[in-house]
Amino acid sequence: MLHIPTEPIGSVPRPDALIDAIVSGRPAAEIAALQERALSDTIQRFEATGSTLITDGEQLKSSFVTYPFDGSDQIVPGGMRIDFADGHHRQLPLLAKGPFRFASYADKYVAEARKRTRSPIKQAVISASALSLIYPAEGIPGYSREAFLADLVNECEKDIRRCLQAGAEKVQIDFTEGRLSLKLDPSGGVLQQFISLINMVCDRFSPEERTTLGVHVCPGGDHDSTHSADVDYAGLLAQLFQLHVGNFYLQLASEPDRRKVLATIKQYMQPGQRVFIGVTDVINDRVETPEEVRDRVLEAAEFIPLAQLGTTDDCGFSPFCDDRSTTREVAFSKIKARVEGTRLAEQILAERALVR
Ligand SMILES: [Zn+2]
Repeated sequence: MLHIPTEPIGSVPRPDALIDAIVSGRPAAEIAALQERALSDTIQRFEATGSTLITDGEQLKSSFVTYPFDGSDQIVPGGMRIDFADGHHRQLPLLAKGPFRFASYADKYVAEARKRTRSPIKQAVISASALSLIYPAEGIPGYSREAFLADLVNECEKDIRRCLQAGAEKVQIDFTEGRLSLKLDPSGGVLQQFISLINMVCDRFSPEERTTLGVHVCPGGDHDSTHSADVDYAGLLAQLFQLHVGNFYLQLASEPDRRKVLATIKQYMQPGQRVFIGVTDVINDRVETPEEVRDRVLEAAEFIPLAQLGTTDDCGFSPFCDDRSTTREVAFSKIKARVEGTRLAEQILAERALVR
């Protein structure tokens, strides 16, 4: 029986009351209570979309990249700045002292979600490559870059392993800086270093465990803007499938020439890898119809073997907790369209397979 899996990326916009409390610096206990309420509501609404695999909507995360620093005394402001096309920016922190340890691991999100659902859960974690950017260019006395990278790989392995032990069905490594790296270094040298670093983490896992691991790439998605959509996708795709994971969650719906990207994916993807293509555009508020999603899946099926095809959203809907550019209503409507459209395509493709 043909089955085309469909999975979210991770984040869902937080409720307004929660964002208000965070940006106005309300007491931690008040924010925690609002987060708990947001989490329960998110899980109920996720299940109502018909999605067989869900996330916690990242309702408890500060952002997809900063959660390991929540409560940390090792970092200071002033790290790498990431500029978005609309003129706004986000900035990473800098590591002030070693040895580097996560102050917060993602398995706590799995545990909180598990209390509220029996559905399979996917958990997103941040890549070792993104976190490698917090080491200062001038170095840290007594704590070399090599020592930092060794600690970093250990910590990222621990983050993933704890999520699997907490019962996550899938763990997705967020690698949004993959495409961005080609803007900063068009030669692809930095991208290769990033891929090698992520593989040092993935190689700690057995081949069977790696079938539950995945990687997500996109041109960024914050305040309905991107940081690297102007970088040619082909440069990233040519290297990406060297990653030692079983699943690839690729932004596609917002690409101006999807067929060109699909042809590139076909050229570079390898046996045993499953490609989840983005069928909903998270930076455009117009909700796709299930029929549009169906047609995008049928288009992708011309390029990707059915046994290796899945669908996803182009990105999380709010990777940073204070992003109000998309409403929860729009996000869940898009998720519902993705689930329904994928099922429509699955039926058509199953019938075609029978006729053959
Ligand atoms: Zn993304």
